[in-house]
Amino acid sequence: MKWIELDGSRGEGGGQILRTALSLSMITGIPFAIERIRAGRRKPGLLRQHLTAVQAAAAVCGAEVEGAVAGSQRLRFKPGPVRGGDYRHAIGSAGSCTLVLQTVLPALWFADGPSTLRVSGGTHNPAAPPADFLIRSWQPLMQRMGVTLDIQLLRHGFYPAGGGEVLASTAPVAAWQPLHLNARGDLRRQAAVGVVAGVPAEVAKREMQRAASQLGVLDEELRVLPSNEGPGNVLLVVLDYPEVTEVFSAFGERGVPAETVADRAARETRLFRDSGVPVGEHLADQLLLPMALAGQGSFTTHVLSSHLQTNCKVIEEFLPVRFAIEESEKGVSVSLLCTDAMTAERQDISVLADISG
Ligand code: ATP
Repeated sequence: MKWIELDGSRGEGGGQILRTALSLSMITGIPFAIERIRAGRRKPGLLRQHLTAVQAAAAVCGAEVEGAVAGSQRLRFKPGPVRGGDYRHAIGSAGSCTLVLQTVLPALWFADGPSTLRVSGGTHNPAAPPADFLIRSWQPLMQRMGVTLDIQLLRHGFYPAGGGEVLASTAPVAAWQPLHLNARGDLRRQAAVGVVAGVPAEVAKREMQRAASQLGVLDEELRVLPSNEGPGNVLLVVLDYPEVTEVFSAFGERGVPAETVADRAARETRLFRDSGVPVGEHLADQLLLPMALAGQGSFTTHVLSSHLQTNCKVIEEFLPVRFAIEESEKGVSVSLLCTDAMTAERQDISVLADISG
């Protein structure tokens, strides 16, 4: 049997290489071996979040796994058939629940029946998609692509306390719809969501006021959580366009004024808003895998990130697809290429052939 060999230090050199490989190994049935996991990071190897992603993946497909221990920089993963069911995993730290969901959900779209997946850990982490991002931005796009998906944020969990929980319900995809996201339409609404847990509400109010002074009129949503869901504070800026919703975030830190936190979120929001493109930097790298599963799609973003480039390469290792990336004054356009020969090759991957007819 063919094994895919991956070098985890390549390109971005982070956890996404492993997570994408897990998702696609489960879907295609192709086993993989990865060396130098997260070699590009300060603390290389499997952290709790990555280990939970491996365990969660192994649970849904009965995989044979070697090297799944904390700190491991190498892993071998041989998947079995993906089974729908009710799954539950605890990261046991503030590691990101949303990244574990994004690893396992794509496989469950090819399972033999519906599933629920409940993950506890961090729900609002810097350098990972906040649960609100998944729910407001990523989920509607997945639904538009034909995915049945309902993600609920049951309890917030902030770094370093963790203790949050998300629950996703999903089902096998009957027919994929291509997603072409190359225009966004006029801004319909912008909102600032100030979230505090065990932190005075005043902090969130100051953040929202400052965001309004930087970004113009914003609807304000104040979310004051029980203190045992914290301590934590995040400011989310939500931009609603006809074609897409984008979410930008910044986290409160001890010793950092609320205004500085708001300025960070506002800077990122402005970069996106002024660019005119529909897809922000983070959403971009998270659309690649679903788009490749659909076998068609394109989008325009404003940053050619190393996450995006590396994720394209990992996907191209597993699936007969190619990503064409073009930079112009309009932004960075990413399109999935699937030639006739590639389509024929797709038919050999039985699960993909089944749902693309
Ligand atoms: P490490 O970088 O330590 O390996 P990791 O496993 O968390 O950590 P990465 O490979 O860096 O993972 O992937 C992080 C993912 O989180 C990427 O998909 C990135 O786009 C996404 N992400 C990061 N910050 C945000 C944000 N503010 N909003 C939405 N998504 C985000």
